[in-house]
Amino acid sequence: MKLRSNTIELDKSQFKKIGYQLIDQIANFIETVDQNPITTAKTPSELQKQLEQTTFPEKGRSPEELMSYTTELLLKNSLFNSHPKFMGYITSSPAPIGILADLLASAINQNVGAQILSPIATEIEKQTVKWLAEFIGVSSSYGGILVSGGNMANFTGFLAGRTEKAPKSIKEEGISNSDKKLTVYCSKSTHTWVDKAAILFGLGSNAIRWIPTTSTNQMDIMALEKRIASDLANGNHPMMIVGTAGDVSTGVVDDLNKLNEISKKHNMWFHIDGAYGIPAAVIPSLKSMFEGVEGADSIALDPHKWLYSPLEAGCTLVKDPQHLINTFSSHPEYYKFDNMEGETTHNFYEYGLQNSRGFRALKVWMALQQIGREGYVKLISEDIALSKMMFDLANAHPEIDALTQNLSIATFRYVPLHHDLSDLEYLNKLNDELLSELQKGGEVFLSNAIISEKYCMRACIVNFRTAEKDINEIIEMVVIGGRKVHARLLKQ
Ligand SMILES: *Cc1c(COP(=O)(O)O)cnc(C)c1O
Repeated sequence: MKLRSNTIELDKSQFKKIGYQLIDQIANFIETVDQNPITTAKTPSELQKQLEQTTFPEKGRSPEELMSYTTELLLKNSLFNSHPKFMGYITSSPAPIGILADLLASAINQNVGAQILSPIATEIEKQTVKWLAEFIGVSSSYGGILVSGGNMANFTGFLAGRTEKAPKSIKEEGISNSDKKLTVYCSKSTHTWVDKAAILFGLGSNAIRWIPTTSTNQMDIMALEKRIASDLANGNHPMMIVGTAGDVSTGVVDDLNKLNEISKKHNMWFHIDGAYGIPAAVIPSLKSMFEGVEGADSIALDPHKWLYSPLEAGCTLVKDPQHLINTFSSHPEYYKFDNMEGETTHNFYEYGLQNSRGFRALKVWMALQQIGREGYVKLISEDIALSKMMFDLANAHPEIDALTQNLSIATFRYVPLHHDLSDLEYLNKLNDELLSELQKGGEVFLSNAIISEKYCMRACIVNFRTAEKDINEIIEMVVIGGRKVHARLLKQ
C-alpha cells in the first residue's frame, strides 16, 4: 500500500517496461556498433539544438517518453568508443558485464565510504584491490582504494608519499613549514597529472624535475642521479621518484628496477604511474619489462583503460596501506564506525579523498571474474599483436612513415610518395589535417602524438572488438585520406 504519492517513484510495471525497453536498445546498440559511424562530429551549437528542453522544466515529464527521448539523443550524438575502429587516446570499449554491473550497483546504491553502510560492497572492493595487486604481479598484501581514474589514482599515491616523506609535522603545520624545497623527479614524458599534483598539493610546479629521456624514450637514469645529487648539494629535499609504466604517447615503460634502487638509496618515495600500461604485466613474456614494480611504494592503474571497465574506475595500490590511513584519516568524533562484533571494519573514507563513495568496484570485480587471468592474457596480448601488425603494415607501405610501437600503441604519419621526410612543416600540416578529416569522417578514430617534432597519428588499441580486418582497413583509409589531403594542399 502506498502511503505517500509522489512523482519520483516508478511502480513495478512501469520500471519493467522502461527497463526492458532500455536493455533492448542497449543490446541492439552493442550488436550493431560496428555498422554505425563512430561519431557524427556535430559542433557544440548543432548539439545544443538537439536538446529539446531549453529552460529548466517547471513540471515533470513522463518517464517512458523521457527515457526513449534520452536514449535516442545519446545514440545519435555520442562518440562510440565501443566501435572496433576506435583507438584514440586511451579509452577502452566497455565490457558489457560492466554496463550491467553499473546498473546493479546503482540499484543497490551502497555508500562505500563506510562498511556499516556497504557491508558486502566493502568486502568486494577489498577483494578487487587485492586481485588487482595480484594481476600486475605485486604482493597481494598491497592495499588500496578504487578512485575515479588515473589522475585521482596518481594523486592518491602522491599524497601518501608526501605525508610519508615530507617533514613529520606536515599534517599540522602544512607544507610551508619545511625549510627545504621538496622535489619530485619524473621523465619529461610523464602525463600532465604530475603538474596538477605539484600545483594543488602545495609543492608548486617548479618542484618537478623533468628528467630528459633516452633515445628509447625512457627516463635517463644518469641525468636523474645527477639531478638528485645537485638538488641535495643545494639543500633541497628530494621526496619522490615517479616512474611511468606505459607512457601515454608511445607506451614506453621506464627502467623501474633502476628507479626503485635509486629511490631506496635516497630514502625517497617510489610511485609508478601504470594508468595505461601496467596491466600488460599479466603477460608472462612481458614480465621482465615491468621488473622493479614490486619495489613501488604506490602504483596507479586504470581499470577503465586496459581492463575494459566502463568509466569511471581507477585504482591506487600502496605497499603499506597504513600510509593511506596516515594521510587521509583524522578520526572525527561523529563517525563511530570502528567496530563490528569485535572485528575491525574497513572504512574506505579513511583511505582516500572521498567521503561518500559509489560502488565502482562492482564492475571491475565482475569483469575480473568473467574474463579471468587467462582471458585477460589473451585479450591484452591480442591488442599488442594488432598494434604490431599495424606498425608493420605502416612500415611496409611506401606512403607511411612508421615511427614507434610499444605495448599497444603505434605511431606513424602519412608521407606522399617520394616526398622529403625532413619537410617537417608541410608533413606536420598534412598529418594534422588528415587526422581531423579521419576523425570527422566517423569511420576510424585515431589521436595524435608529436615524436621528435613530427606530428603523427597514434593508434592505441585497448579494444577487445578490434580485429585484423580493421587494421588492414585503417591503413587503407590513412593512405586514401592522405592522398586526398595532399592533393588539396597542393592546390592551395
Ligand atoms: C590516462 C593516463 C592518466 C590519466 O588517467 P585518467 O583516467 O584519464 O584520469 C595518467 N597517466 C597515464 C600514463 C595515463 O595513460
